[in-house]
Amino acid sequence: MQRIHDYYRPREERKHDFHEVERPLPESVVREQTSRCMNCGIPFCHGAGCPLGNLVPDQNRAVADGNFRRAYELLSVSSDFPEFTSRICPALCEASCVHQLDEESVMVRQSEKFIIETAFANGWVVPRPPAAENGKSVAVIGAGPAGLSAAVTLRRRGWRVTVYEKNRNVGGLLRYGIPYFKLDKEIIDRRRKILEAEGIRFVTGIEVGTDLAADYLMRANDVVVVAIGTPAARDLKIPGREKKGVHLALEFLGGQNRQIGGEIESVPVSAAGRRVLVIGGGDTGSDCVGTAIRQGAKNVMQIEIMPKPPETRSSSTPWPAWPYQLRTSSSHLEGCERRWNLNSIEFLGGESVEGVRVQEVKWELSPEGRPLKFAAVPGTEEVIPCELVLLAMGFTGVPSDSAVVKQLKLSLTPRSAIMSDVARSIYAVGDCASGASLVVRALVSGKAIQLPSDIA
Ligand SMILES: Cc1cc2nc3c(=O)[nH]c(=O)nc-3n(C[C@H](O)[C@H](O)[C@H](O)COP(=O)(O)OP(=O)(O)OC[C@H]3O[C@@H](n4cnc5c(N)ncnc54)[C@H](O)[C@@H]3O)c2cc1C
Repeated sequence: MQRIHDYYRPREERKHDFHEVERPLPESVVREQTSRCMNCGIPFCHGAGCPLGNLVPDQNRAVADGNFRRAYELLSVSSDFPEFTSRICPALCEASCVHQLDEESVMVRQSEKFIIETAFANGWVVPRPPAAENGKSVAVIGAGPAGLSAAVTLRRRGWRVTVYEKNRNVGGLLRYGIPYFKLDKEIIDRRRKILEAEGIRFVTGIEVGTDLAADYLMRANDVVVVAIGTPAARDLKIPGREKKGVHLALEFLGGQNRQIGGEIESVPVSAAGRRVLVIGGGDTGSDCVGTAIRQGAKNVMQIEIMPKPPETRSSSTPWPAWPYQLRTSSSHLEGCERRWNLNSIEFLGGESVEGVRVQEVKWELSPEGRPLKFAAVPGTEEVIPCELVLLAMGFTGVPSDSAVVKQLKLSLTPRSAIMSDVARSIYAVGDCASGASLVVRALVSGKAIQLPSDIA
């Protein structure tokens, strides 16, 4: 039996709405697919792949046997938010599945979604407040996945937990970055209710460092957890950057999510009727592509300075490593031209952007095919006409003048990540401590907080 791939709603249907692009799979299909799991002696999916250490083969067996309650109990051992990861995780577990050696991996992510949605539908997901309070309190700054994960972990150990969030609602980039068509925000609201029933208090619309002094939180609590993400996006400071119509990806994506969530009336940046150029070939860029298509863009192009990755796993990332290879998202399949080896030189136009001057580059590759450095190819300059440019080139870390960093007197690494100060009971978790990464890694980071025995 082969792995199936048709779990998306039809392209022509989905590209006109913001509902999740993946459709729920029938029980029979999920059971059949999980039965492909070989229950390997050394389950790389569990040990090398999943950062949470999910008990993937056992879960698969339980699903294949139709024992969904058992599957949920197994999943709950390691994962507090499977409804998030089962929608948006790149599934590191699947990349390390032993089946990858000769065919396609077992369908783990969709199976996880089936397990958790079955659990919610049957009322198995209930609040798990601590058996006893420990009389100590923690302030968590930031309600993204890392903050939520730290909050639930400490609450279950008996801590009194208050999470402070500057946005109007909780979720961090789950809510204000990742589009609805990948993760509906009702999924976050549903979990928030459970966390509140467990006793976690959320204080939203409060920016720590501005509305509330961070050092006050230190004095008022036994422990402070800093989970503020990586707010600074990498900009493209080339001539013409000031023109209207050139925006950072999160201005565009966050605006769309806030509009759907009812926080604002209309989107601050619209792709409707415009030719859209997305600069940056990663996942954030892909989210811009899907959002621009749904807003009614005239056409969408995504460009990347790096070379086109190989269609299949590169020899530089042999199994069971996460493969360096071309990734094509559901958004790309909805209608987008993609180009590689293009450097952006200048934004053109009058007051508003009308095009971007680009030039081809040639990469020097390592023996394993990894790009090392590039040089411009003379005579290859061209202009890509567009009325909207979205910059999706990653994040630069935590600014050293961040109020939280200054007020808590925290140190940054050379790569602008916050270092925990365990001696003063301040713990940094998630992207702000690691650099921009993945939801699953943020969740692990929040869950793994190790408090010294005198305060734990
Ligand atoms: C567009 C986009 C798409 C992505 N898609 C995926 C994906 O599909 N799969 C995946 O695994 N990862 C994805 N990621 C990465 C993932 O979202 C992040 O790695 C993850 O959200 C990091 O979690 P975090 O809790 O550390 O930070 P964040 O999610 O950034 O949360 C930090 C929170 O802290 C709050 N905060 C900051 N400063 C303060 C303050 N002073 N006071 C109070 N609150 C504060 C912020 O408002 C925010 O809510 C994506 C990222 C982006 C930008």
